[in-house]
Amino acid sequence: MGRPMKARNPRTGALDYEFTAADEADVAAGCEALRAAQPTWAARPLEERFEILERFADAVERHQADIAQALSTDTGRWLLAASETRGVRPALERWRRYAPEVLAETRGQSQAIPSIRFTQQLVPYPLVGVISPWNFPMLLSLIDTLPALVAGCSVAIKPSEVTPRFVEPLQRAIDEVPELASVISFFQGDGRTGAALIEHVDLICFTGSVATGRKVGEACARAFIPAFLELGGKDPALVLASADPVKAADTLLRASVLATGQACQSLERFYVHESLYEPFVARLVEKAREVPLNYPDIHKGIVGPLIFARQAEIIAEQIADAVAKGATIRCGGEVETLGGGKYVRPTVLTEVDHQMQIMTEETFGPILPVMKFSSLDEGVRLANDSKYGLSASVFAGSLEEGEAVARRLQAGGISVNDGSLTGQMFEAEKHSFKLSGIGGSRMGPAGLARFFRKKALMMQSGQPLPIEVFAEDQARA
Ligand code: NAD
Repeated sequence: MGRPMKARNPRTGALDYEFTAADEADVAAGCEALRAAQPTWAARPLEERFEILERFADAVERHQADIAQALSTDTGRWLLAASETRGVRPALERWRRYAPEVLAETRGQSQAIPSIRFTQQLVPYPLVGVISPWNFPMLLSLIDTLPALVAGCSVAIKPSEVTPRFVEPLQRAIDEVPELASVISFFQGDGRTGAALIEHVDLICFTGSVATGRKVGEACARAFIPAFLELGGKDPALVLASADPVKAADTLLRASVLATGQACQSLERFYVHESLYEPFVARLVEKAREVPLNYPDIHKGIVGPLIFARQAEIIAEQIADAVAKGATIRCGGEVETLGGGKYVRPTVLTEVDHQMQIMTEETFGPILPVMKFSSLDEGVRLANDSKYGLSASVFAGSLEEGEAVARRLQAGGISVNDGSLTGQMFEAEKHSFKLSGIGGSRMGPAGLARFFRKKALMMQSGQPLPIEVFAEDQARA
């Protein structure tokens, strides 16, 4: 039963955590149990489901220290690990605000034949599968799970094999709420476990890379189930001629370097109007040099180790490719091995162009390549010249000017005079463009609505049409 696996500690490089990957039979049996428990869960009144989920939030608070410690070991950072554990209650409050409107069964009447009225019945998908990545292990395991549970679904979660430690203490919190424990299960493992999961669920919420997202989308198509794919990006920032270069540099640095650039909404390429280019780059380099590593003390500094070792190779390859094609490293630029962990200091690159991987491929690290543009049209064209379309940022002298440019960008979430606001704003609905994803919005009321199928119940109070109405000679007349 199951395969033994090990996880690497990002601060030491040691393979110091062992766990068992669920195999096909484990997934099949677990999903069957979740499916059996779902009708009882869905039959509970909404308020009762919320009351149970609130008890789960209480249990997470009771186990907060253990979960945060495990997440911290998984990700090599402290503050963001602790903040992941505090997301359950605010998320429930948000879904509670939307639920009455989203779950209301609407009624109506046919315009053409007033004797026919209809009711829209909402039927939750019985079993939702969630497949999540390593960059925010708990947050991204629960981000779709909580609204699915509110909707009345059971949920099967396949977290990343890179960061499995948080599941054990989180499971202890789940076990303290027996009504919930029967409708939510974690299946540890790698892509094989994820692929098995797709065969046993009714809908998939996937967060991860484009390459895996494509495989997941294809498998879901074969299984004839909906797939919501939240994938990677190469988010651009535009700094217009009217912007304050110091404010723009300081803010965009944060939006690129936070979480060591390992966030889907991290800004990864910068286009600056030529009139501001020199002061912007000077400020960016000055501030980037000041950002400390969180090494050796995890409770100090800002930039943590790279969570996934392979990421260090990708970053080094992209920097080498850029330098070989003429880029200049203004600060940073090295992958450093410290205490067994892989670290990259904020790296500013100039003399870059779209022939370089650093401007076209997702980097997922604290790397800031800066290009200048001379006309607004050129800046917008460069920002849109990407196979991705997740999010973007515009800095301008006024919000009106920034909004006008934001309207021209091909991405789902655009921050104006700030960066990466999609990490702070859960109310606005958004759809990814191009390879960054497909499916309905995860945010806003639509994030709850996607877990229901709508049925039309059509009631005739008058006389049903007789067949003679469809006689050919009737039509001629
Ligand atoms: P990944 O695609 O390598 O893995 C994601 C998950 O898919 C893991 O749990 C993995 O085990 C599983 N998996 C692998 N092969 C599978 C298969 N054949 N079938 C089913 N499941 C399979 O992604 P990652 O490296 O863990 O995460 C980083 C990526 O996630 C980046 O590209 C980042 O941009 C993206 N991301 C996107 C968002 C968003 O909201 N758009 C948020 C966070 C991260």
